[in-house]
Amino acid sequence: MPERIDADVCVVGAGYAGLTAARRLSQGAKSVVVLEARDRVGGRIWTQHLSDGAAVDRGGAWLGPKHDAIFGLAREVGVSTYKTWVKGAHLLVDGERTRRYTGLIPKISPLAVVTIALAQVRLDRMAKKVPLETPWTAKRAAEWDARSVAWWIERSGITAGIGRDLFEMAVRGLFTGDLNDTSFLHLLFLVRAHGSINTLFSIEGGSQENMVEGGAGSIARRVADDLGDSMRLSSPVRSITQGDDHVLVDTGALTVSARHAVVTVPPALAVDIAFDPVLPDDRLTLYRSAVAGPESKTLVVYDEPFWRADGFSGQTSQPGSACEVTLDASPATGSPGVIASFAFGAVAERFDALDPAERRRAVLDALTRRLGPRAASPVEFIETAWWAEEWTRGCSMAHLPPGILTRYGPLLREPFGRVHWAGTETSTTSHGAIDGAVRSGERAAAEILDRS
Ligand SMILES: Cc1cc2nc3c(=O)[nH]c(=O)nc-3n(C[C@H](O)[C@H](O)[C@H](O)COP(=O)(O)OP(=O)(O)OC[C@H]3O[C@@H](n4cnc5c(N)ncnc54)[C@H](O)[C@@H]3O)c2cc1C
Repeated sequence: MPERIDADVCVVGAGYAGLTAARRLSQGAKSVVVLEARDRVGGRIWTQHLSDGAAVDRGGAWLGPKHDAIFGLAREVGVSTYKTWVKGAHLLVDGERTRRYTGLIPKISPLAVVTIALAQVRLDRMAKKVPLETPWTAKRAAEWDARSVAWWIERSGITAGIGRDLFEMAVRGLFTGDLNDTSFLHLLFLVRAHGSINTLFSIEGGSQENMVEGGAGSIARRVADDLGDSMRLSSPVRSITQGDDHVLVDTGALTVSARHAVVTVPPALAVDIAFDPVLPDDRLTLYRSAVAGPESKTLVVYDEPFWRADGFSGQTSQPGSACEVTLDASPATGSPGVIASFAFGAVAERFDALDPAERRRAVLDALTRRLGPRAASPVEFIETAWWAEEWTRGCSMAHLPPGILTRYGPLLREPFGRVHWAGTETSTTSHGAIDGAVRSGERAAAEILDRS
C-alpha cells in the first residue's frame, strides 16, 4: 500500500517556484507537502561544492538589481549576495582578431554599433507596447506573434558581420532554441518583463550583476530546511486526480490528498503527469510547444582568477565558438577562480556531439587563446548537459513558437480545477529568471490563500 498523507496543499517540484509557494503557504497557516523528483532541491539551480568547500553554480547563478523577490527571499533566510567581477578588459574574438574593450560596447565598426543601438531602441519601444500581464492583448500581438525572432533580426537593420553575429548570439542566449522557431512576441514580452534588452544583456545594472554567497542554491537549501518534513525528495509525481473537494497527487509510493495542488514543473514536463480529468487539448498544445533549448554551461576552475592580475575581466565572446560567452563566476573571496563558459542553441548542439575529450580541448584552446597559457590547466572542468537532465530538459526557460502566446497564453496561469500553476514560465515580471520563479510561487500561494 502506498503511504498516504493529508495536507492542505501539495506542491509539485522544489525549484524556486515550488519552494517559495510552499513557504508562503506555510506562513499562511496551511499544511503543505512538497514532492520533488530529484534527490536535491533547487531544480534548474544546482550548486556544487568543490573539494575545498567552494560553491559553484552549474545552473542559474546571476541576479539583476531589480530582482526584488529573490533578494527578499535571500534576506529572509540570511543569505547575502555580491557583485560579479567586471574590472579589466573584456575580449571579443572576431576571426583572427581579438579586440579588447571596456563597458558594454565592443570596438567594432561605428556603423555596426549605431545599427545595433537603433535596433535595440526599436525593440524597447515595441516591448513597451506589450502589456506585462497579458502580452496577447497588445494591439499588434497577432502580427508580432506570427513572426519569428530570426525574421525580425534579418530585418533589424543591423549590418551583417560581427555586429549582427554578436546580437544574434546574445538573443539566442536568452532563448537557447532555434530563433526561427521562437515568437517575436515572446521576445518583446521578455524584454518588457526585464525592462529593456540591455538589462538582459548586461552585467552592471543588468541581469548578470550579482551572485549569491555560497551559490544560488544556498537560498533554496535554507528554505527547504525550514520546510522540514514537508519536503519529500526522490518523489516524482506520476498522476494527479481531482475530485469535488480534493486532489490526489500520486508518486506510486506516496499519495498526498490535498485541497489544492501547485504544479511548478517546466511546462513540457507537465504532459508526463497523468491528469484525471485529462488536460484539455489546448493546454496540451501549449505545454508540448513550450520546450526549452540546448545550452552548455561549463565551469572551468583554476587555483585563482589569474586573468584579473593580467588586466582581464574574464568576460569574453566569440559567436559560434565552443565558448560563445564567458564570465568570471568566482566566489566572492576570489578563490578559486571560476570561468563560466556558455554555448547556445545549435552551437551547443554541435559542441555536444563531440566526445568529452574533444569538448574539453575546444574549451581550453579557446580560453588559452583569450586569457593566456595558464587557462590550459584548470583544476576542475564541470559540464552540465541540461537538455539531457530528465527533470528539466532544456535551458534556461521554455521558448514559445510563433502563434502560441496569442492563442494559449491565458492558460499559463489559469487554474485547472484545484490545480494551480507556478514556475518561471508562468511569471510576468522577471519572466524566465530565478526572480520570476519566486514571484510565480508567491502568486500561486496567494491564489490558494484567497480561495480558502
Ligand atoms: C544553465 C542555466 C543557467 C541559468 N542562468 C540563470 C541566471 O543566471 N539567472 C537567472 O535568474 N536564471 C537563470 N536560469 C533560469 C533559472 O534557473 C530558472 O528560471 C529557475 O530556476 C526556474 O525555477 P522553477 O522553480 O520555475 O523551475 P525548476 O527549477 O525547473 O523547478 C521545477 C522542479 O520540478 C521538479 N520536477 C519535474 N518534474 C517533476 C515531477 N513529475 N514530480 C516532481 N517534481 C518534478 C524538478 O526536478 C525541479 O526541481 C538558468 C537556467 C539554466 C538551466
